[in-house]
Amino acid sequence: MALNDIDGMGTTVNGNLSWVWKIQCHARLKFFFWKLGHDGIACNGILASRNIPTDGLCPLCAVDFESPYHLFVDCNVTKLVWQAGANNFKAFALNDFFGWLRENVLCSSISNDLKIPHGTFFTYIMWHIWVARNKKVFFSNEAFSPSSIIHLAMARAAHLVPNSKLDRMVSNVELSWTPPESGWFKLNVDGSCIGTHQHIAAAGIIRNSSGHWVSGIAQYIGVGNSIQAELWGLLLGLKRARELGIQFLHVLPTSVQPMLSWHVFREKNCYTDNLAKHVATMRISLTVFDVVPDFLFSVFWADLVGISRSRRIKNIVVG
Ligand SMILES: [Zn+2]
Repeated sequence: MALNDIDGMGTTVNGNLSWVWKIQCHARLKFFFWKLGHDGIACNGILASRNIPTDGLCPLCAVDFESPYHLFVDCNVTKLVWQAGANNFKAFALNDFFGWLRENVLCSSISNDLKIPHGTFFTYIMWHIWVARNKKVFFSNEAFSPSSIIHLAMARAAHLVPNSKLDRMVSNVELSWTPPESGWFKLNVDGSCIGTHQHIAAAGIIRNSSGHWVSGIAQYIGVGNSIQAELWGLLLGLKRARELGIQFLHVLPTSVQPMLSWHVFREKNCYTDNLAKHVATMRISLTVFDVVPDFLFSVFWADLVGISRSRRIKNIVVG
């Protein structure tokens, strides 16, 4: 197959992309690499080369022309991602972007502390750079966070590697979260109250005895106070549990301690807390989350990769 010029900057693409289908990753990511190899991703440099109105500039640094090579290798913002990964990625060979990709994604050595194959981790970093870049373009208030990209890539890669260190870390976290006994479910609820006008939102997350996400529910309520927000969370969570036909349920609100006999520290309920804050900020109407939403994923995994929360406690029940 012929060589194609991909970015007009001297980088060539080897038309033989059979290596793409050998990557250890989700099929969607293989397709992403396949499109990348066929000049098919909508970065601004490619759009400009097709006379689609755009300034062609990189949305991350806003300085250079956004070719795939620039976006994934040469951009000073993207470089922060690779530095955050600290994973001894293969050095980039001049004018051989796809050689660099191929060498990295097919590398099966496990050189990192997380016990994730180099190629799988690299592949997910590439994907999440692209996802974060698109969020920045289409949702201008979304920050491009190198550390979040690394955490998300670790999380997704760990799903493919059952014996990875992260998998074992999940078990540890679930122990600290204290799952309910077999056959029972646990509902964590929380409320968020933000801004000078006291906009409140409520959220509830239901997990099973294995610690797995069963369902989440959240709603922007309006103007109110933090106690009202948490009571709304309790109402939403209980309604959701009833819809699911759950009969055995532990209920753990965060801070309505004066009215109820237990208290859960926010550090142990951070996902519900984050869900409520997100909904309050975005003013999202009633929404059910059947899977962990992406915006909670990084928080979840940030805990697992060492950003721990701790607090001295005494004689208080936590969950
Ligand atoms: Zn750039």
